[in-house]
Amino acid sequence: MTDTMRIALPNKGRLEQPATELLRQAGFRFERTERSLAVPVRDAPIELLFVRTNDVAELVSDGVAELGITGLDLTREDNARVGTVAELGFGRCRLVAAVPDEVPITSIEDFEGLRIATSHPNTVAEFFGDKDIGITTVPLSGSVEVAPKLGIADAVVDLVSSGSTMLVNGLRPITTLLESQAILIEQEAAERSPTATRVVTMINAAMAARNRSYVVMNAPRTAVADIEAIIPGIEAPTVVPLTHDSMVAIHSVVESSDVWHVLPRLKDAGASGILVLPVQQVIA
Ligand code: AMP
Repeated sequence: MTDTMRIALPNKGRLEQPATELLRQAGFRFERTERSLAVPVRDAPIELLFVRTNDVAELVSDGVAELGITGLDLTREDNARVGTVAELGFGRCRLVAAVPDEVPITSIEDFEGLRIATSHPNTVAEFFGDKDIGITTVPLSGSVEVAPKLGIADAVVDLVSSGSTMLVNGLRPITTLLESQAILIEQEAAERSPTATRVVTMINAAMAARNRSYVVMNAPRTAVADIEAIIPGIEAPTVVPLTHDSMVAIHSVVESSDVWHVLPRLKDAGASGILVLPVQQVIA
């Protein structure tokens, strides 16, 4: 391997934008033009390889790229020799088995003998094989949900996020085979290079920041104990004296999901000039 460390990323599709955004939030600066395959990261010995989402796992397992971002469902389908470094919280979806509304099937055992259209034939074969249910897969790369209408399959196993596409196509979900999301991957059993170790730290720092907000406020000194009790901070809040003797500034990091509940209580406790700011990275 050369001194430059490579990260394989989706060049289009659902995972492209959130993956690119995460890298930028992690502090990587790069300029990507529409058709560029290999993009250097400014001021770091890193090259971003923009490839088809389906190819990311293979490039990582072959060692062409040391790290990659792809969907968990795809690494399972390819049985790729990769390890999960981090779950990234976007690209969440489920691989669901469904039948046309009018088919009187209620359980997975009723799939015996059915033809199942899917873009995940290996995962489907393994799932039903484990349960000793005999099915035939009809591999399709897209538009899986229309296969029953076309008469080429009796059921489908497809990725859903909200489930509305299935509903629109008259399909009724029976069971979930797999819960998926985007993951950061590396080659199985490979030793992580120092550059990759730093990349992993930075991505984890950006991930940790995503659920956090920085809250700054002024308050009378007498209210500090009450306010400290309200703020469910990662650590104790920072209390800074102000030129006005009786007042202090209080800074704290809080879970973004708590902000909604916490703000009115802070006001009631005497806080004023409350600012809620985004957090870029958190390194514990
Ligand atoms: P792409 O085909 O490049 O858009 O990427 C497909 C990948 O996005 C899948 O393998 C999943 O990991 C992920 N994904 C997330 N939600 C969905 C969804 N509702 N349908 C299909 N893929 C999804």
